This record gives sequence, C-alpha cells and structure tokens, in this order.
Amino acid sequence: MKICVASGKGGTGKTTVATSLAASYGEKIQLADCDVETPNAGIFFDDSGRDEENVSLFIPGIDLTKCTGCKECERICRYNALAVVLKSVIVFPELCHSCKGCLYICPENAIYEKEKLIGKITTEKIDNNITLVSGILKTGETSSPRLIDKVQQKLDKETHSIIDSPPGTSCPAVEAMKESDYVILVTEPTPFGLSDLELAVETARLLEKPCGIIVNKNMPEVDIIQKYAQKEGVPILMEIPYSRELAKDYSMGNLVVQTRKELMEEFKTTLENIIRKNEEAAI
Ligand code: SF4
Ligand code: SF4
Repeated sequence: MKICVASGKGGTGKTTVATSLAASYGEKIQLADCDVETPNAGIFFDDSGRDEENVSLFIPGIDLTKCTGCKECERICRYNALAVVLKSVIVFPELCHSCKGCLYICPENAIYEKEKLIGKITTEKIDNNITLVSGILKTGETSSPRLIDKVQQKLDKETHSIIDSPPGTSCPAVEAMKESDYVILVTEPTPFGLSDLELAVETARLLEKPCGIIVNKNMPEVDIIQKYAQKEGVPILMEIPYSRELAKDYSMGNLVVQTRKELMEEFKTTLENIIRKNEEAAI
C-alpha cells in the first residue's frame, strides 16, 4: 500500500509526520522523499551510507546534415520545445517533456537521443525496517514531476510505502499523490492552514483518493479544522499537540517519536488503521 503524506501549504509538519509514521511502524516499510526540491527526510535519520544514481531524461539532438527543415517535429511537439528556422532546429530543453514524439516522426532520421541530467536518487537502509528513497532535483531544474515518478518506480510494490509529497496542490504534489492508495493531509489550526487544506482535500477528491487529516500544533481551544472536517466528512486521524518541546525536538533534527514515546504508539496505531481499512476495502 502507498500512503501519501501531503499538505496544501509548506511548514505544516508533513515531513515530521511522514518520518514519524515510518519510524513507528516497527515492520518493513519504505519512506520515499518526493519533496524533491527540498528533500530533508534524511536529516531525521543517522546517515548509514547510501547508493546514489543519476536521473536523466531524453531530449532530442539534431543532425543538421540530415535535416530538410520539413517541420514535422515542430508540428508534433505539444510543448513548443522545438522551433524550425530554415534548415536549423532549435531545441528548448526546459520545455521538452521527453515524449520522443519528434524522434519517431522525423522522416529523415535526423533526430537522435541525448540526455539531460535532472537530478539523482539516493537509497539508504536506515535500519532493519526502514528504507529511505530520496529524490534530489538538480538546482535550476523544472522537471520535478518526472523525478518524483522515478522515485516511485524505485519502490518495491510488496512493501508498504510512505510518500513524503511536495507541499501545495500543483503538478509535483499531484504526481506524488496519484499512485497512492490513501492521502494523509497534514495541516495546522490557522486560517491559512484551513484555506490550503480545503484545496488539498479538493485535489485528493479530484484524484478519487480517500483521505484523512492530521492536525499538527493542535490547540483544544481552536477547532476550525475539526469543524471543517466534520462538515466535509473527512476523518481526523490524529491531533499532535502544540508544544514548545516538540518544536525544539524538530529544530534539533530529532525524530519526535524517539523523544515522545506516547506519540510513537499513536502514529503506529494511525498507520495500522489505514492499512487495515485499505485491506478490508480490497476484499
Ligand atoms: S522532422 Fe526531422 S527533418 Fe523535419 S525539421 Fe525536424 S529534424 Fe528536420
Ligand atoms: S521529446 Fe516530445 S516534448 Fe521533447 S521536443 Fe520532442 S516532441 Fe517535444
């Protein structure tokens, strides 16, 4: 099962939740850091050595000695990544989506395969149970959905996975959510948290994903998230109390479940319940 931990806005505690779920489970689990522009799940764990691989995508190279300037490649490219000027073809790599349409359509075999490096993927065995797979986007690259897709392809389908999604509701977050079986939306009890949560719930519903809410920095006297959840029929999975001590742990790069054993039990139960309900729904 794939469980995506997402949030409509950054800074709500999404990575804290994703790492805590993985660390609390107590059985084999994969944690995929798909927040590829700012991956930091690894900071919460001891560095135990990692495998690294570069990730590259196709971009067209043009053999101008064969090109007749027929413009077939320009016509087929839906992303305006090619411009044919007389018998010269200009490639805009940042617009290319690597569909290879131009490669196949060229009647002169004037297009050949080139590679564009977009980032790398690291894989770490954190301990006997947790494997952390992280995508790291190359600085200045815009192809984060492609790298997120590659990270997810690395995951073993037989093992449960926690996906740490990029924040927001645009293409990278959708890419992280779309293959998941369940979406956990992390929010905080502020008007900003609520506004972005509404967008995130809408996104999960558009993708037809079941979802639930974890309220971080919860304060009993502020119930705007709980009221919204009740109105929308979205379950509150867990409430993490507002606490100076938890904030201190986080700022030191500590896993909150290692210093707060009571939270570890709660995270474990939350994850087990999601997995159990998913299995029951599949019967
Ligand atoms: S399709 Fe091939 S031959 Fe035609 S303009 Fe493009 S590269 Fe040149
Ligand atoms: S690979 Fe696809 S997106 Fe890229 S230039 Fe060719 S047709 Fe356009």
